[in-house]
Amino acid sequence: MPDPANTVLRVALPVPLPRLFDYLPPPPLIADESWIGRRVRVPFATNELIGLVAAVGPAENPELALKTVFALLDDAPLLSGEALDTLRWAARYYHAPLGEVFATALPAPLRAGQPLPETRAYAWRLTVDGTAAVDSLRRNSATRRLADRLRAGALSEDRLDQEFDGWKTPARSLAKRGLIERVPATDADAVANHVRSQAFSLNPEQAAVGEFVRAALGRFQPILLEGVTGSGKTEVYLQAIGECLARGRQALVLVPEIGLTPQTLQRFRARLGVPVHVLHSALSDGERARAWTAMHRGEGHVLVGTRSAVFTPLPNAGLIIVDEEHDGSYKQQDGMRYHARDLAVVRARALAVPVLLGSATPSLESLHNALAGRYAHLRLSQRAGVARPPRVRVLDVRKRPLTHGLSNDVFVAIAACLERGEQILVFKNRRGYAPVLLCHDCGWSAQCARCDAAMTVHAGGRSLLCHHCGSRRSRPLSCPDCASLALQPQGFGTERLEEALAERFPEATLIRVDSQSTRVKDGLEKKLKELGDAAGILVGTQMLTKGHDLPRLTLVCVVGIDEGLFSADFRAGEKLSQLLIQVAGRAGRAALPGEVLLQTHHPEHPLLNTLLAGGYPAAAALELAQREAAQFPPYAAMALLRAEAGNEGDMKNFLLAAHEQFAGGDALLTISAPLPAPMPRRAGKARGQLLLTSAQRPALQSALGDWLPRVAELKLARKVRWSLDVDPMDLY
Ligand code: ADP
Ligand code: ZN
Ligand code: ZN
Repeated sequence: MPDPANTVLRVALPVPLPRLFDYLPPPPLIADESWIGRRVRVPFATNELIGLVAAVGPAENPELALKTVFALLDDAPLLSGEALDTLRWAARYYHAPLGEVFATALPAPLRAGQPLPETRAYAWRLTVDGTAAVDSLRRNSATRRLADRLRAGALSEDRLDQEFDGWKTPARSLAKRGLIERVPATDADAVANHVRSQAFSLNPEQAAVGEFVRAALGRFQPILLEGVTGSGKTEVYLQAIGECLARGRQALVLVPEIGLTPQTLQRFRARLGVPVHVLHSALSDGERARAWTAMHRGEGHVLVGTRSAVFTPLPNAGLIIVDEEHDGSYKQQDGMRYHARDLAVVRARALAVPVLLGSATPSLESLHNALAGRYAHLRLSQRAGVARPPRVRVLDVRKRPLTHGLSNDVFVAIAACLERGEQILVFKNRRGYAPVLLCHDCGWSAQCARCDAAMTVHAGGRSLLCHHCGSRRSRPLSCPDCASLALQPQGFGTERLEEALAERFPEATLIRVDSQSTRVKDGLEKKLKELGDAAGILVGTQMLTKGHDLPRLTLVCVVGIDEGLFSADFRAGEKLSQLLIQVAGRAGRAALPGEVLLQTHHPEHPLLNTLLAGGYPAAAALELAQREAAQFPPYAAMALLRAEAGNEGDMKNFLLAAHEQFAGGDALLTISAPLPAPMPRRAGKARGQLLLTSAQRPALQSALGDWLPRVAELKLARKVRWSLDVDPMDLY
């Protein structure tokens, strides 16, 4: 028992300092272990901050006069057990201050010190008067429709949100007349009269996976589920979650950012028979805090969410699923640069539950773990149901005439597809009109004034936008260098393809899908709904590669992947293979046969050939061999220290000083000299980096632990913005 007089609170605060801060408990309270994981409001400099008690014990420095916390905000720990341990683990692994890790892990209202939100759900039902009055309400009025809906029984507000646009106005008016009333909802109301969809009887491959997962429930078991697109992975997830629920346990499902569509959610809700909680960035802070709290309290059974959902406490965990585990959106690219898939595996181990990593195109990291026997490797090799794999045709367009980047074969195939009343996806991973504006007479091109990058031409050629810093300007009328009027957009983005297709197929419905055209909430949903089953052309970036089932999509035209074939990024080959397979997987997902046209100037490229001949497994094997030869991840562990500053000299001197602080480089552990970033100037800032590589992760981790505190102490560390990226996805 520590001496109470001596027991101080060691508080993690959301400040970029890798230490805890000591405070005294507010008298007359005496702190003990039960305070760990509770929030406190504390004075900090001239401000106040919300922190989390990370430890209680004797003061670090007994000489120091400590301040007293203003208030203890929770009467029970917000974080405890495994959830707290995982965050501590993350702080160590990513070398991030614990306070910042907490700030990353908690929904905004909780981070700001608000009380846990009410998680009780409410439902609406007809009163006795209301039941008698339904038939007298005016036909087709909103009030009548709502009252009609409630005749079969109470409906939860979640259900109304999903199924009755604008239900609140008629509800208010009915409630005022005493015809309906608001009551606490039960789980049953949330799923009552739900159009429950039937589980499929699994095919033998799916059944084998299902059996394996069932047998693994109750212990740690990572499973890599490599299943071609449309092979029924989601179906397997749903049945595995069903098993987990039947044992009274919680399931966490992570999905990529663009994969969490209303369609996906609908599929989960229609099947599981319990409320499905959701966590993603498009929700309000309040909604996110409610989902988090419901899981934290053990009231929620299923949580489907994007990256940050991985931090949600699961007091009663049974299963974790990471869908499309290779997806880049699982990596947080600022603040604490964590990888949600990796954290999911760490948590599964701590929770002693299976973790199912599903993908048609697994990351090389996961494949490597499977090959090494650390993960079970299960496969679904056939499309489920009636769908067959699409036919892939390579169009060699060397020396062929192109109209706005599209070959004649592509136009012919599109015309035939429209004729059959089907849908086409023209895929180009570049938004905007054209990537460069070039002077045909002198070679000048429009560069961003603040970045080492060309500006993208937008608005049909009228304006210029930098995709790296957001700078905009209008397109010059003449060349600033030679005054020539021969300024030409070079290359093609989705806008330009849309224009070309509209010109060629003026009658066809055309929908452009990129981050710009779908910025409004549910923009993509609305557009796809409008199209429905009708013939039409979708032009888009990778936003269309997942989440939406488009049964009438039978032709995928991939135009312009050649940039990806020659990128310097060591992950470029992996990313391109994944992208191509994912896009191709959109074709022929249902009864109609699908075709994929790959238009390229490099039909002989080894990666393309391997991919075409042996599919993703062959391409991945080729890439893995190259990574091994070059000692790149997953055969080595990497960390990147990035720095940027307005003044190039400060940035360089900081990196030099940091490099000097690094002791103990050896054959097992190397540190590069300061290097310019692949984009040396961005948004007006000079950027550079140091790359650390080791064949052994523990060696790298312990070196980082010694080194970073010394880096943080450097005088220059205050003049530059710097950050550490453990397991970087991009080296820039
Ligand atoms: P994936 O997640 O691997 O892309 P899905 O689970 O979405 O695959 O399944 C693809 C399609 O096949 C869906 O329309 C789904 O309803 C259907 N499907 C899945 N499993 C079966 C099955 N066992 N029998 C019949 N159809 C199935
Ligand atoms: Zn010029
Ligand atoms: Zn810029």
